[in-house]
Amino acid sequence: MTARTRFAPSPTGYLHVGGARTALFCWLYARQHGGTFILRIEDTDLERSTAESVDAILQGMTWLGLEYDEGPFFQTHRFPRYQEVIARMLKEGTAYHCYCSKERLEKLRAEQMARKEKPRYDGKCRPGVAQPPRDIPPVVRFKNPPDGAVVVEDLIRGQVVFQNSELDDLIIARADGSPTYNFTVVVDDMDMHISHVIRGDDHLNNTPRQMNMLQALGCKPPVYAHVPMILGPDGARLSKRHGAVSVMQYREAGYLPDALLNYLVRLGWSHGDQEVFSVDEMIKLFDIAKVHSSTAAFNPEKLMWLNQHYIKNSELKHVAHHLSYHLGKLGIDPAAGGPEMMEVVKAQRERARTLVEMAQNSAFFYKDFDAYDPMDAASHLKPEAKQPLSQLRDQLTELSRWEAATIHEVVTKLAESLGLKLGKIAQPLRVAVAGRAMSPPIDVTLMLVGREKTLKRIDRALEHIRKQPVTA
Ligand code: GLU
Repeated sequence: MTARTRFAPSPTGYLHVGGARTALFCWLYARQHGGTFILRIEDTDLERSTAESVDAILQGMTWLGLEYDEGPFFQTHRFPRYQEVIARMLKEGTAYHCYCSKERLEKLRAEQMARKEKPRYDGKCRPGVAQPPRDIPPVVRFKNPPDGAVVVEDLIRGQVVFQNSELDDLIIARADGSPTYNFTVVVDDMDMHISHVIRGDDHLNNTPRQMNMLQALGCKPPVYAHVPMILGPDGARLSKRHGAVSVMQYREAGYLPDALLNYLVRLGWSHGDQEVFSVDEMIKLFDIAKVHSSTAAFNPEKLMWLNQHYIKNSELKHVAHHLSYHLGKLGIDPAAGGPEMMEVVKAQRERARTLVEMAQNSAFFYKDFDAYDPMDAASHLKPEAKQPLSQLRDQLTELSRWEAATIHEVVTKLAESLGLKLGKIAQPLRVAVAGRAMSPPIDVTLMLVGREKTLKRIDRALEHIRKQPVTA
């Protein structure tokens, strides 16, 4: 059997981390079995589905690199097919028209509740209605098997048994003819030849109904794996109040997709005590059957730790690619001039926890800063810095090759000749070129800023010092 998995989000919001984890598991399963990963948009709830949400889901999948082999398929494009299957089921007698009025159903429900029974349709129209009322458009119900049990051999949960007596005859088409949710899932899973349904465990109760319908259609049900939900650090279901829950919020906050994927794969699954998994390793080692059946708690610090790990250890080109997005948000086009981005990443990656930090700390390489950090300027751009800065300016102007090593030599030699500690020169110089007293090593900083900008910024700093009020 070739593996065919699907991720089937309802487009009623952004792609959240729980959905992304489900998508990742489906994707990994397909990739490890040389199978096919399908994206299906379950947009039949016309009131809640939006085009923006579809875009947000597609963007999230692209950013994470979870590329799909088929789709996106939209359920709203498949209505004629659903009608066809409904007609077939009516013809084959696995579904029937139900004319029960709303009033009757409400009364039935109230009586069952009063008897402390689980409310369910009593099957009145199941044998057929001799004289269908002309003024009531019927719904279509599925003829659920009246007895026996449905056994779900869930890859994560193990065996879960549902008694058919607990399930009633589900409505598959409303009075206006529109198909209902559980039914569209069944038709799609059948038509798309889905072999493994990996989804959130909030759908576990739908599974026996869906399996019964698949069987009625002569189709062997897929294998199911219900993934437990994610909880916030406080044990409540992960939600907005715990911070970012949308995948794209993590992009905005400066995370690498690799960090989020790594974090999500480890949420409820482990392989010895290994914490870091490249995508290739995930494909090799991940085992859906070893995902824990209990809920998993979200730990933002661990995600941050992984992000730093990937910023430090990924290929420079990869980090640079993602950094360019954040520089763009600061109004910088790194392609329009300034240092090579890979060089910037190399210089910055030891100290940045996020790409937002890295972009903010690197902006001065590309554009002039508006103002000095006031505290740093007060500490370092003082009258005594005037002489070293002026001499540096001259020597740097003369420098034959603009390289970290040659710049280093100029700075250290000048410190020696003036009898100053290196910091007394490097710090004013740093504030002059970076706007503040924090940057990569001074020689690398100057090298990346470039000669022309360095000289201009030293002039600006000298001017700043000159303008300081003289204090006694
Ligand atoms: N559309 C459902 C959801 O977003 C998923 C259904 C399924 O995977 O079967 O929760």
